[in-house]
Amino acid sequence: MRKMAEADVKWRDGKTTMYIFNAGEEVERVKKAAYAMFSEENGLGPGAFPSIAQMEREVVEFGLALLNAPEGAAGAMTSGGTDSIVMAVKAARDFARARRGLTAGLNIVAPYSAHPAFDKAGMMMDIEVRRVAVKDYLADAESMAAAIDPKTIMLVGSAPCFPYGLIDPIEALGELARARGVWLHVDACVGGYLAPFVRMNGADLPHFDFAVPGVSSISGDLHKYGYASKGASTLFFRSEELKAFMPFDAGPWPLGRMHTPTLAGTRPGGAIAAAWAVTNFLGVDGYRDKQRAVVEAREKIEAGVRNLGFHVLGRPQLGIVSFMHDEADCLALLGKMYQRGWVSAGLLEPRALHVMLSPAHREFADKYLADLAAVLAETAPQTTKAPTYAG
Ligand SMILES: *Cc1c(COP(=O)(O)O)cnc(C)c1O
Repeated sequence: MRKMAEADVKWRDGKTTMYIFNAGEEVERVKKAAYAMFSEENGLGPGAFPSIAQMEREVVEFGLALLNAPEGAAGAMTSGGTDSIVMAVKAARDFARARRGLTAGLNIVAPYSAHPAFDKAGMMMDIEVRRVAVKDYLADAESMAAAIDPKTIMLVGSAPCFPYGLIDPIEALGELARARGVWLHVDACVGGYLAPFVRMNGADLPHFDFAVPGVSSISGDLHKYGYASKGASTLFFRSEELKAFMPFDAGPWPLGRMHTPTLAGTRPGGAIAAAWAVTNFLGVDGYRDKQRAVVEAREKIEAGVRNLGFHVLGRPQLGIVSFMHDEADCLALLGKMYQRGWVSAGLLEPRALHVMLSPAHREFADKYLADLAAVLAETAPQTTKAPTYAG
């Protein structure tokens, strides 16, 4: 297995800005020990494993407190961001059925920058996803308002969206949601466990969580900036009443009915235990330190790429920064960086480079910038027909 891993990206050397959230060796040890300790236990059986049930409850409470949840708010753990989003759509749909009498022909209104998990949910539940163009890389509440009709069951905003790393104007979306009586989901998969600490560290972030009255549900991934092992996310609801639309009550079958909080039956005890261990190990102070490092890494990269002549998209405040260049083709640069061992994302609209920083990147930012400067120097100016990047 070590041999097989030799061709993998050298993420411990900071060489990837996607897939991995590296908070250092200590956190890695903690989550692995916790995962191993509960690797056989099953979240499907809270009666058999009250330990897992308790850990799940406490992780959810930790997240709710971070997101300004009101008294009576509720949540659950899921296996990942996509799972959380699918369950949020399921809950919103069942809410619309029960409370608004809506049946077929339903739709969701989302900015172009929202994650494809909403499309997946739409495919599974036969719900149309109406993608609305962004304005200055942000959700445009005015155009989204125009896309709403009586069969709209959900509005979406991201905090932040993955492509640009920018927090959508959730307050404007919240007003819209309230005015039109539509469920607003805030996708904070990549920001839910980052933004609250960045704010505590002094940044002036716009409101994006339950502090905004129109927000019904929020997804936040523990396995991203929560630094938990993969397979851990959270989905929160403003009230127990809204959360009641999330679980499945399936059957009958010979064992009676099957009640599960998510689509899954068996749920990995290890992922829940690792999330509990990391959130308790770091605590608020630990997260503030880690997230300070993330912001510093992003600021370093931001300053560095501006120096190299790139334009940063919007005004990033969290861990993601995307940047474009007037002359160089960013996707060609991406390919050249890949040849130097860097794995990061590229955007097609507009053609831009995308980096998502971890605490460990504070130490590697200079190396990234040096390599970027080198590939920029060797890349010919963009021609009318840009080369395609396959990967
Ligand atoms: C990562 C991400 C998701 C999906 O999460 P997975 O854990 O990869 O399924 C959804 N929304 C945003 C904004 C994300 O960054």
